[in-house]
Amino acid sequence: MKAWVINRICNLKEDNEPLTLCDIPQPEPKNGELLLKVKACGICHTEIDEIEGRTLPPHFPVVPGHQVVGIVEESKGKNGTVNVGDRVGVAWIFSACGTCEFCLSGQENLCPDFLATGRDRNGGYAEYMTIPEQFVYPIPDFFSDAEAAPLLCAGAIGFRSLELCLPENGQNIGLTGFGASGHLVLKLVKHLYPDSKTYVFARSEDERAFALELGAVWSGDTIDHPPVLLHAIIDTTPVWKPVVHAMECLKPGGRLVINAIRKEPNDQDYLLQLDYPTHLWMEKEIKSVANVTRHDVKEFIRIAAEMKFKPEVQPYPFEDANRAIMDIKNRNIKGAKVLMI
Ligand SMILES: [Zn+2]
Ligand SMILES: [Zn+2]
Repeated sequence: MKAWVINRICNLKEDNEPLTLCDIPQPEPKNGELLLKVKACGICHTEIDEIEGRTLPPHFPVVPGHQVVGIVEESKGKNGTVNVGDRVGVAWIFSACGTCEFCLSGQENLCPDFLATGRDRNGGYAEYMTIPEQFVYPIPDFFSDAEAAPLLCAGAIGFRSLELCLPENGQNIGLTGFGASGHLVLKLVKHLYPDSKTYVFARSEDERAFALELGAVWSGDTIDHPPVLLHAIIDTTPVWKPVVHAMECLKPGGRLVINAIRKEPNDQDYLLQLDYPTHLWMEKEIKSVANVTRHDVKEFIRIAAEMKFKPEVQPYPFEDANRAIMDIKNRNIKGAKVLMI
């Protein structure tokens, strides 16, 4: 089968063809697993973190991709919950142990044996993939393959980030960085917390205009100050400057939720501008979001179908995986990028 693989770590500033198209054997499902024929796979900034070595795959080559929509081609499942011919989704959580203190308390995202799709196991930039049967999600007919893909990462982790803000209806939420996850969260806030207002911080004028179009009440540059202090801010940027500025824009007791698997080191010295009274005093908090649980994915798909929400998607033909990756690296972001297989 045809598959795109990561063979090595590289620097995308010097190399704009980080993925290699290969012919590899079609995977065989083991007991308890399904074989999926992949239809679409969302493209995520996490692929760039893998390629550049910030979240290192344990072995090369690996097929990236963790927002997979496919059709069950063969089932060696034991539960009979999924049948051949079903359309299902696969998310970042490939599997977790099911027996540790985290798995038993609804925090399987923190499991020490957490395996990630497209990093620890082969993912969806390929014609076929295998996955344990308990780690797939039925996709409602309402969504096309391309529309469903970004729900599985950007959407699910956006939902988790919003939950970690602990909002109540009417409290104001900020978003710093406005990519695929940001625009999903904005719509989610409008649906789940109709009296809350959303404030968007983004570097590019296009993104700021897009935020207002989608219903933000205010948008500004990363270092601008909104007219009010905010209950919580979600940071989806790969850098540090927005972290410092977001802390300044929080109310007392406010929380910054960092939704980024890794931060890039380039502007790390910006953190030296952290000033205790301005940025941290008054019980302000910083919390990161790690991975997703199956509950996050299921809940988000359910809510997205209920609100008849379709993400803005930008499809790429299978051959153009490298171009799609470079478009994300170069922050050419409008809507969620999806590889069609
Ligand atoms: Zn992702
Ligand atoms: Zn566990």
